[in-house]
Amino acid sequence: MSIQAPKGTKDILPDEIENWHNIEKTAEDVFSRANFKEIRTPIFEDTSLFERGVGDTTDIVNKEMYTFIKSDRSLTLRPENTAGVVRAYLEHNMYRISPPVKLWYKGPMFRYERPQAGRQRQFHQIGVEMFGVQDASADAECISLAVEFLKRLGLNDLTVEINSLGCNKCRAEYKENLKKAIAPFLDGLCDDCKNRYEKNPLRILDCKNETCNRLFEEYKLKDSVSGVKLCDECSDHYTNLKKYLDILNIKYVENTFLVRGLDYYTKTVFEIKSNSLGSQNAVCGGGRYDGLVETLSGPSTPAVGWAMGVERLNALIPKTEPEKIDFYVVSSNKQEAVKLTADLRNNGYICEFDYNSKKFSKQLEKAAKIAKKAIIIGEDELNNNYLTVKDLNTGIQIKSTFEQILKS
Ligand code: ATP
Ligand code: MG
Repeated sequence: MSIQAPKGTKDILPDEIENWHNIEKTAEDVFSRANFKEIRTPIFEDTSLFERGVGDTTDIVNKEMYTFIKSDRSLTLRPENTAGVVRAYLEHNMYRISPPVKLWYKGPMFRYERPQAGRQRQFHQIGVEMFGVQDASADAECISLAVEFLKRLGLNDLTVEINSLGCNKCRAEYKENLKKAIAPFLDGLCDDCKNRYEKNPLRILDCKNETCNRLFEEYKLKDSVSGVKLCDECSDHYTNLKKYLDILNIKYVENTFLVRGLDYYTKTVFEIKSNSLGSQNAVCGGGRYDGLVETLSGPSTPAVGWAMGVERLNALIPKTEPEKIDFYVVSSNKQEAVKLTADLRNNGYICEFDYNSKKFSKQLEKAAKIAKKAIIIGEDELNNNYLTVKDLNTGIQIKSTFEQILKS
């Protein structure tokens, strides 16, 4: 049997690549205007980076990592890129640079999940990270970058949801309230939730299991616990974030139950959801992670960022039809065709010719399929030293010279 791409992975084929290039170019353009610089970190890292950085109560670390041993070293294909970026930030002493340090990345991520629409095992993310600023204007800048990026890609039917998870201090009471509210139906929840109950009860709110969600409804969980009660500092921060978003004209919805799948978030969390995707509707997720740099043995450094799923973005963007090439050289003399094709390419045109010396009529047929114009070199052209250019859209033919073609 022929070998196929591994389950949960997808080839990105030539007729899709225009969309990918468009997304990547737009990202670079939007982010560099805000002075974010691209960083490229390795696709695999020491496993311990993710255990410490992503958190050992997360699904990612518990169930989804592609881990392998080489020379007694445990390595893992990156399931996300914030931990890798923080590692690089520390390894290259970027905390010595006067803040902010603003970075963005793009590339493949790997999670052993159940493949379904919008969920793959190798998928791609584009993300930004901003280090060194505690002020909510940084959170607002990151959210605004994501919105601007999506807008530039023509995507408007999106909802920005925001929430503040506060700091460890203000979260402690909320965790207790949440546990009390969940206790009556804890036995009916999935094993993951039972596990989260002690280690990180907030993340129970992020459970995607249907039975759990039904129990939340039945016991009116969301009515019995409100959001995190914020301390003065966290509350001011959240108020300021909303002010900045208003100034930037970014519409948002407050969702007091928005928690994120990763352990490291503090204060701001947000998600951008598409109103036209199915159940995997989150295109972007992020927030503030003031404790992570310290967790990875660096100096205490405030930070905020997000990651976007490129496959989910792509599903929202209409496929661009590949453009026709500039010229197809139709000729009975292959040496002339080879020479003219090379000369046109050297002058910046996309040009092809017939490698297989097919009949003139066949060459013209091919030209009409793939090119805007055909350049014909027949007997008469060769004897009288001119070229015929045929506009394949209008059918109009004109006598021309190489120099005239360059000027046209
Ligand atoms: P979800 O709730 O959909 O599982 P997540 O909370 O695991 O998302 P993050 O880790 O924050 O997601 O990643 C940010 C974005 O990356 C998501 O909003 C989504 O667009 C995309 N993403 C995450 N996991 C996958 C996957 N397995 N396949 C495709 N895209 C993904
Ligand atoms: Mg997930």
